[in-house]
Amino acid sequence: MAHAYFKGQFVPLDQAKVSIQNNTFQYGTGIFEGIRAYWNPDERQLYLFRMVEHYVRLLRNCRVLKLNIVKDEKELSEITLELLRRNHPETDTYIRPIAYVDSDGIGPKFIGYSAGFAMYTLPLGDYIDVSKGIKVGFSSWRRINDNAIPARCKVTGGYVNSALAKTEALEHGYDEAIFLTEGGFISEGSAENIFLVRGGKLITPALSEDILEGITRETVIELAREELGIETIERPIGRTELYVADEAFLCGTGAQISPMIEVDKRPLGTGRIGPISAKIQALYFDVVKGKQKKYAHWLTPVY
Ligand code: PMP
Repeated sequence: MAHAYFKGQFVPLDQAKVSIQNNTFQYGTGIFEGIRAYWNPDERQLYLFRMVEHYVRLLRNCRVLKLNIVKDEKELSEITLELLRRNHPETDTYIRPIAYVDSDGIGPKFIGYSAGFAMYTLPLGDYIDVSKGIKVGFSSWRRINDNAIPARCKVTGGYVNSALAKTEALEHGYDEAIFLTEGGFISEGSAENIFLVRGGKLITPALSEDILEGITRETVIELAREELGIETIERPIGRTELYVADEAFLCGTGAQISPMIEVDKRPLGTGRIGPISAKIQALYFDVVKGKQKKYAHWLTPVY
């Protein structure tokens, strides 16, 4: 039986349970993270990718919701390592930490309650296709605004917005949804940031466009600049700019680098995975699997 971290202890996963009265269960008042660990079969090693950055983001976002989990990123990293060593996966693994309101109190608010922290792990292959190119459609749902539920913060309740858009996309025969902001500019996917390629340059929505401050996004910007000499422009992007882009891809911890080949039933670029997207994807997989020593500082070996 896999273990989870719950109420300060490592317990069998089936014992890590909250009450139906729990405040976060009622109101979506939690903040979560998704971290990947990649199994390197040659080295028989599991590498966590940019774990500390995920916990720095979690703690920053907890400040917005006034959730004080009374742990720093070092302690959270130690818990992660201990949990993985107990569960001992030898496969690509997803780590799901969550900060939540540890109270059965009625009323959506962030004062007068204490915060809890839990974590579990599960095996995870590709979350969406990364090899044949995906088909996307613009959602009729708008991205949640920073003045409503901040997308920046990975708030559990905010994922109702993602679920509505993803459901609509799947029902329309698309693999993924693209959100526009209330202002009508491109924001992000249901669980991914987005990049366009035009004239050999990368373009991505700025942090002001109601997006999660993606760690993969930041990784792509750095790898493109350092390894391919490609600059990224962060600016507002209109819907039709995606229709006329040379290439485009989604990126995220779960999604990894997922090139798009069709948008709103129009071929994107050549309608096949573009060369720059392919290069960035190959580079990313090498880096996360520990095959690029230059980026070893992004990896934490578990065993
Ligand atoms: N946007 C949203 C809405 C997400 O849920 C995710 C997944 N965490 C991302 C972007 C990508 O973020 P990251 O690269 O940090 O996983």
